Amino acid sequence: KQKNPNQEPFHQAVEEVFMSLDPFLAKNPKYTQQSLLERIVEPERVVMFRVTWVDDKGQVQVNRGYRIQMNSAIGPYKGGLRFHPTVDLGVLKFLAFEQVFKNALTTLPMGGGKGGSDFDPKGKSDAEVMRFCQAFMTELYRHIGPDTDVPAGDIGVGGREIGFLYGQYKKIRNEFTSVLTGKGLAWGGSLIRPEATGYGTVYFAQSMLETRGDSFEGKRVVVSGSGNVAQYACEKAIQLGAKVLTVSDSNGFVLFPDSGMTEAQLAALIELKEVRRERVSTYAKEQGLQYFEGQRPWGVKCDIALPCATQNELDENDAKTLLGNGCFVVAEGANMPSTLGAVEQFLKAGILYAPGKASNAGGVATSGLEMSQNAIRLSWTREEVDERLFNIMKAIHESCLKYGKEGDKVNYVNGANIAGFVKVADAMLAQGI
Ligand code: NDP
Repeated sequence: KQKNPNQEPFHQAVEEVFMSLDPFLAKNPKYTQQSLLERIVEPERVVMFRVTWVDDKGQVQVNRGYRIQMNSAIGPYKGGLRFHPTVDLGVLKFLAFEQVFKNALTTLPMGGGKGGSDFDPKGKSDAEVMRFCQAFMTELYRHIGPDTDVPAGDIGVGGREIGFLYGQYKKIRNEFTSVLTGKGLAWGGSLIRPEATGYGTVYFAQSMLETRGDSFEGKRVVVSGSGNVAQYACEKAIQLGAKVLTVSDSNGFVLFPDSGMTEAQLAALIELKEVRRERVSTYAKEQGLQYFEGQRPWGVKCDIALPCATQNELDENDAKTLLGNGCFVVAEGANMPSTLGAVEQFLKAGILYAPGKASNAGGVATSGLEMSQNAIRLSWTREEVDERLFNIMKAIHESCLKYGKEGDKVNYVNGANIAGFVKVADAMLAQGI
């Protein structure tokens, strides 16, 4: 903590992993050799750079860009780019650290990285976003490559931004390679990639439910967020017969009737967010739904909660409220949405709780599948990619069971942390310091 001041989210992520590892390391001391733990928390490389661009009024704007190349023991660095005003070193190091273990869990050969900028795409014109993305890539291009580091989207970076970033990389490098994932279908993208994180989160929750002979059918589901992950978590939950009761953004949440969100309402949400780039308050007005300004959705009575917005959006009190209302499944679509206090509550209650690094790994896994398709210059069908995603989520669930069984319960936090760690640690030990 002294070495990395003001990086609270990073400390939190490391603490959670190390708490899981403690008893495991006591039984497996080989993993404390070669200063392995000291090495694993230190990024292999951090790049910070100036991004200057011109806004629509002709003013020069200055932002800060980052790329954290955290760990390449099992493959090229891989992880998204986040454009949001809260982005700083502490946020990106937490995300890069989580990404290392998550990528190891996917069964695919990908190291961990993360990057982004404090640039806020909200309220910017398409032309401004394009100029920013071009300026960002004009520096980033020299640090990445299809066999070195392959960024993707995250908060604030969707299909539009990936397009502008990819266009600039191609112009500078004069090569058409798999240097970014989340590309458009016509130019190297994979079917199911937009859906993958949300679908994967629901597939993981489905596997957890199956351990208790249960399913999504008829369950009340509370979702936070309304971006990429939230949208497709809603879609899959609806397809499996669940009733989605809420979506939200950082201003408030929307409540659907007891019968749940319909497919037509989901289509309208996707159009509002992705085409018109409006707030959910506008959505509630247009759909005649109740809207709760300044509130999060965790007070709504449910069986399953899917936090799909951002880090630390669900605290200890929210966890108590959810448990008090009978919620017995929590699967994280976002990265670290639950605070340490909330996680403690879920584990103590013995509910089915999946940490993001296990349940939201479907996004990066499908990015890995996009890289494979690019490498063989073929595109797989929707069914083929979806089936691979489904099987990967099942395999991640199995890994969590392998390392997380505690009597007749499963601690998915320990399971995911230990399974991811073992793979990366074995590779690091084999490769020397
Ligand atoms: P989007 O930008 O598409 O959506 C983000 C959503 O989260 C929006 O509804 C946004 O609301 C809300 N949000 C963002 N910041 C805050 C905040 N400070 N407080 C409350 N709500 C907030 O991003 P994604 O859907 O891609 O990402 C959501 C989460 O999932 C992130 O944690 C991301 O790291 C994680 N994730 C994403 C993957 C992917 O493939 N996209 C893969 C794995 C994890 P608002 O518009 O008000 O900001």
